[in-house]
Amino acid sequence: MKSLQLEEEIAKEQVNFANEEIARLEKVVEVKQEVIEKLQTEIATANEQTESVKAEVDAVLTQINAERQKVFVKKDELISKMNQKGLSFYQKIRRWAKNTTAVPVKNQACYGCFLAINDKTYAEVIKGEEITTCPHCGRILYMETQEDTAK
Ligand SMILES: [Zn+2]
Repeated sequence: MKSLQLEEEIAKEQVNFANEEIARLEKVVEVKQEVIEKLQTEIATANEQTESVKAEVDAVLTQINAERQKVFVKKDELISKMNQKGLSFYQKIRRWAKNTTAVPVKNQACYGCFLAINDKTYAEVIKGEEITTCPHCGRILYMETQEDTAK
């Protein structure tokens, strides 16, 4: 009888211990669940932000492409209106001068080769009646307007 009681006691203790362990693990699960929920919320927020940034970038890109298209159309228009002789002259210089085919004159100096130009050439550039080229490097010279300086 006594030994049976003892066994029962031990069994009870084991059950208690097991219940405590279950309660502890349930608490752990609960905490982990909270962490998961918090992370999921953060992921959702991050995804939303990514979406909105992407939408903004797309809108800007669309705008840039539209502007670009306008510039292309304008460029084609200008080329078609241009004097063909002047155009081939320009293109010949452009072959070697690339983006500095036409350069401004500042302080009576060519901004392609940075050498000073003589008074006669300078006067021609100021007049602006003919296409004037730099006597040193051959680039097309133009006077910088207020609008150009503002850029
Ligand atoms: Zn020059």
